[in-house]
Amino acid sequence: MIKYSIVVPLYNEELVIAETHKRLSEVMKSTGDEYEIVFVNDGSRDKTEILAKEIMKNDPNVCLINFARNFGHQTAITAGMDNARGQAIVVIDADLQDPPAVILDMIAKWKEGYDVVYGKRSVREGETAFKKVTAKVFYRFLSSLTSIDIPTDTGDFRLIDRKVCDAMKSIKEKNRYVRGLISWLGFKQTAVTYVRKERFAGETKYPLKKMLKFAADAITSFSDKPLKLAGYMGYSISGISFLYLLYVIIRKLAVGDFDSGWASIVAISLFFNGIVLIVLGIMGEYIGRIYDECKNRPLYVIAEKLGFDEKEEK
Ligand code: UDP
Ligand code: MG
Repeated sequence: MIKYSIVVPLYNEELVIAETHKRLSEVMKSTGDEYEIVFVNDGSRDKTEILAKEIMKNDPNVCLINFARNFGHQTAITAGMDNARGQAIVVIDADLQDPPAVILDMIAKWKEGYDVVYGKRSVREGETAFKKVTAKVFYRFLSSLTSIDIPTDTGDFRLIDRKVCDAMKSIKEKNRYVRGLISWLGFKQTAVTYVRKERFAGETKYPLKKMLKFAADAITSFSDKPLKLAGYMGYSISGISFLYLLYVIIRKLAVGDFDSGWASIVAISLFFNGIVLIVLGIMGEYIGRIYDECKNRPLYVIAEKLGFDEKEEK
């Protein structure tokens, strides 16, 4: 029986895959238990697929899921979890930013009886100041918006027990924020802290556009507060406007004068048009996701699945 599954999402990771496999194998062999490494190739356009198949030839512990195209990091993780067969499942990035040795600490906590052991980054090495600041602000902003306790400074590097993995399968949500969903599930959770290293090679697969989509998914999945923003702004602005109107009427009656104010009218009108458009945009973010849910398409499409059956036959 397979005890541990290590899920590794891969998108254009030809420069790191061999080293990652080597380091993960060293760590997993040291446990002395049966394990599998589940590579999920998320529609890479480089040699990732070829290299993964090479690795599989020499290592029966490796399985591969090939997506039909790039479906995104969170979806790749989900596919890995859906197909993992271990009693404990660890998700880890391919770029060795999360040190594989930390998996042993996670396993120790799991053996103590925890169902979810997440990695908490105490320090982030070799990441741009922009990424560090935006990440810090984002995690705090998110936790102020949501009532679910999503741990801050935590990525997708975590161990989950088989029962958590099975519970995850019941969540069919489309634009997924996996770490939030795992918090939402509950179970006995704990953290291990670690230093997040520099990428081993290659560059980040999360350009600004993907980061923004990721942040929007997280917020829309776990909070409806932005939708209420329009209401709050409407009430307060109407209140202020009403008071101002009273002032205008009283002044007109008492003093009789009033200045013509072309510039102020234009400024006010532009300002409120801006607010209306922002509110519409926020609603669009939610409606687009509602639409995604309605379409009921599968979360991902697998082009090829290798290495899963062979192991079962043994
Ligand atoms: N990744 C993926 N699909 C994507 C983007 C990223 O599977 O569309 C994988 C990537 O190969 C890596 C992990 O997700 O294993 C995290 O990506 P990356 O290290 O580039 O993100 P960062 O650490 O810079 O936030
Ligand atoms: Mg990385």
